[in-house]
Amino acid sequence: MAAISTAALTVRIPPSAAAAQPASGNTDPTGPFVLPPLPYAYDALEPYIDEQTMRIHHDKHHAAYVANLNKAVTGWDGLDDKSIEDLIRSLAGVPENIRTAVRNQGGGHLNHSLFWQMMSPHGGGEPQGDLATALEKKFDSFAGFKSAFTKAASALFGSGWVWLTIGDSKELRLEPTANQDSPLTAGRTPLLGIDLWEHAYYLKHQNRRADYIAAFYHVINWDDVQKRYHDAI
Ligand code: MN
Repeated sequence: MAAISTAALTVRIPPSAAAAQPASGNTDPTGPFVLPPLPYAYDALEPYIDEQTMRIHHDKHHAAYVANLNKAVTGWDGLDDKSIEDLIRSLAGVPENIRTAVRNQGGGHLNHSLFWQMMSPHGGGEPQGDLATALEKKFDSFAGFKSAFTKAASALFGSGWVWLTIGDSKELRLEPTANQDSPLTAGRTPLLGIDLWEHAYYLKHQNRRADYIAAFYHVINWDDVQKRYHDAI
């Protein structure tokens, strides 16, 4: 079986010996990745996203991705000093032993870190300026974007995300990812994403995903999406 090159990263093996002989890299399972604080109160997105969901989603689900990512990279030199974006962008360079853990837990950490910023109690409405122009160019109108985004989010089977992304060609695209995969791994930049795992909406909406998607439009932080768009073009 062909080995995948890990030349981009310096790796100390084996992690199973880490407890007896700590590597010179990170050996602290409480770091190096850190749960970012929610940028608003747990109840700030009410009535669209409820307080209990936000509390469990951030404090339990996101926290678990961070803790499990820290566990996965413990003892592996060259991984613990990378940003989460770099780690997910260059997933193919992550050692095979922990690649799946980094993909799932690191992806979860990255996706949720973005997700909190992509929402705001002052969100909703429509984007302005050149992002609005770009959406109109791609989807004919803002209503056309909403319709396409809603359709993609409704159609996603199982747990995953739907993203508005931009790539090297600067063209906007809607794309789903399964589980906690990030568009970054495929070389595309996520501008906006909706978490379609049931943990994101089940307490309030149960099986009614359509209600959650409709509520999400009221809290989209278009200023954040616009900033991300500007950074990418
Ligand atoms: Mn989630």
